[in-house]
Amino acid sequence: MTEEYAAAVVGAGPVGLNAAIQVQKNGFDVVVLEDSEEIGLPCQCSGLISRSGYEGLGLKYDKTIVNRVRGARIFAPDRTEFKVERFDTVAYVIDRPKLDKVFARDAKELGVDIWLNSSVVDVKDGTVFYKNKAGKGEMVKAKAVVGADGIVSTVRKSMGIEAQKEWYVPGYQITGRGKFDPDFVEVHFGPWADKFFAWVIPESKTTARIGLGVTGKNARTCLEQFMDDRGIKAQKLDFQAGVIPAGPPVTNLVKDNVLLAGDAAFQAKATTGGGIMLGIEASNHAAKAIVDHFKYKTPLTSYQKHVEPVTRELEIHWRVRRYLNQLNDEDLNKLFQRMKAAGMEKFLSDNADMDKPSSFLKKVAGSPKMWMMLPEMIKFLRG
Ligand SMILES: Cc1cc2nc3c(=O)[nH]c(=O)nc-3n(C[C@H](O)[C@H](O)[C@H](O)COP(=O)(O)OP(=O)(O)OC[C@H]3O[C@@H](n4cnc5c(N)ncnc54)[C@H](O)[C@@H]3O)c2cc1C
Repeated sequence: MTEEYAAAVVGAGPVGLNAAIQVQKNGFDVVVLEDSEEIGLPCQCSGLISRSGYEGLGLKYDKTIVNRVRGARIFAPDRTEFKVERFDTVAYVIDRPKLDKVFARDAKELGVDIWLNSSVVDVKDGTVFYKNKAGKGEMVKAKAVVGADGIVSTVRKSMGIEAQKEWYVPGYQITGRGKFDPDFVEVHFGPWADKFFAWVIPESKTTARIGLGVTGKNARTCLEQFMDDRGIKAQKLDFQAGVIPAGPPVTNLVKDNVLLAGDAAFQAKATTGGGIMLGIEASNHAAKAIVDHFKYKTPLTSYQKHVEPVTRELEIHWRVRRYLNQLNDEDLNKLFQRMKAAGMEKFLSDNADMDKPSSFLKKVAGSPKMWMMLPEMIKFLRG
């Protein structure tokens, strides 16, 4: 007989597991179907998250934090440096596989069933069709289904939502041993990271995650070129490759009884590809819509409305991404110079929020010193 749950979640990443936890906590049985044979692996993430996002979500996974950074050194193609810094921690570098594993542990403790080696192939009329480890077709029924199956989402496809090729940025990253400043993340713009950027995210004084995203070129070769060009010396300890989400947030998030969340819904910042914090925030809204639906018969589409504040922030990131994609290296150099001349380093240091740009933009508009940047801001927003 086909098993039946109140809710089924496709994908045991942080977004899917958080959704499962929030629904199960309210007394409804949840099953999570996960393609991989081990939670958190393969890891395709640099693990940089904002402190404000982490604290705002009330996460209590401090044991997954491997480093705390207090700013970023951002380099233009011509190496002009732009430094954004605070005296205190602004972001955490986390052990991403460990984060997924502690989410899974908490979910299991609450009674969530997690089925590994279960690759979902379709979702139709409340039935989730999947293949087990032996490749045999199976199914499970659920009154609500959350598609949290990452950037190349099968559930999104089953909802008939298309994504464009340019919204996927190939990424490549190594963990390297060398000498690094543990307090600062580095961001580099240049020809080896066309339409994205390269990064150095320190785990400590001696190890860092060094990577880049690039379109239309081999990301691994580009990373070697970047490290050569910028004189970054590191002994490669391991590597990972993955697709970085850099597209607009999906707006039709609910179809029948299926809700999309996380990378599957492009709920990642198109500026940086960071999707852990906003994805988890969105999954809280998806879970609430499901719980309210079960308890009070409210429509599942309430998710769409409640997640709007997140969607608005994601749309700003998308507009900025589209604007940046139009600039060549020379334009970027000029932009950096104008930002420096306007005193943006200090302004960003004092006011920036890694995840939520809307409040920062309001502060720019309200600060006469920043008005020389308004033409750029308008272009950002037009995308
Ligand atoms: C190179 C790189 C660096 C990144 N760095 C950062 C960073 O520093 N900070 C940040 O916030 N974000 C970063 N991201 C993005 C971040 O990894 C994602 O936004 C985040 O993982 C989204 O979580 P999720 O749960 O939506 O999806 P995922 O974490 O991708 O989880 C989806 C899960 O679904 C499973 N799955 C997929 N298809 C199926 C299927 N058909 N059936 C069953 N299961 C399935 C997958 O195995 C996976 O476990 C980075 C991404 C890349 C590629």
